[in-house]
Amino acid sequence: MCGYPRCLEYARAIAEGKSDINRCPPGGAETLGALAKLTNKAIPPPAEDCEPYTGRKIARIEEDICIGCTLCIPPCPLDAIIGTAKHLHTIIEGNCSGCELCVDHCPVDCIRMIDVDVDGSFHFWEEFGDDEVARWKNLAQRHFERVSRGDQVTVDSEQFTNLKSQIREAVNRERSRRWKQANKKAARLQSARKVK
Ligand code: SF4
Ligand code: SF4
Repeated sequence: MCGYPRCLEYARAIAEGKSDINRCPPGGAETLGALAKLTNKAIPPPAEDCEPYTGRKIARIEEDICIGCTLCIPPCPLDAIIGTAKHLHTIIEGNCSGCELCVDHCPVDCIRMIDVDVDGSFHFWEEFGDDEVARWKNLAQRHFERVSRGDQVTVDSEQFTNLKSQIREAVNRERSRRWKQANKKAARLQSARKVK
């Protein structure tokens, strides 16, 4: 939502004076207040170009639609998506922070963001517990180290866009082929019934 790939890049941009402190909608008033204190600034209104936060969510993959293309795996900063090529992918729910970074990468639009019920009694943020935030930070750090070592494939955004549209076109072609086949079969069955 802030426009940076992870919290770390946003934090660096703030520290270097390249970004304002008002770009974290999920962090809410607590984060904004803490950043204002840390940077010794007055609290600004939320950034107008950041999408408004609509409550805590978790990603879920629709099993019937997933084609196992693996395109959603590299963008997940917490490695919360597991699956191998041509097999159904799934999300480790406890590892998903609801950042939505995977959603736009799916060529068949089968990643849904589902609302999560929280009781709002956490220590610092209303909707996020300290323990889970600490775990997400560790996961993000592990992911970052692996990508830096070259252990994980990274694809730049142009490659992603091309791959995504190629896969989307292939899936549409296959769906249309199956649809035509099913229609022909239905027509054959209908005319066989008429003959009887
Ligand atoms: S919403 Fe974020 S954390 Fe959850 S699976 Fe998608 S990219 Fe990973
Ligand atoms: S990008 Fe979509 S279709 Fe491809 S593996 Fe992920 S959820 Fe499945």
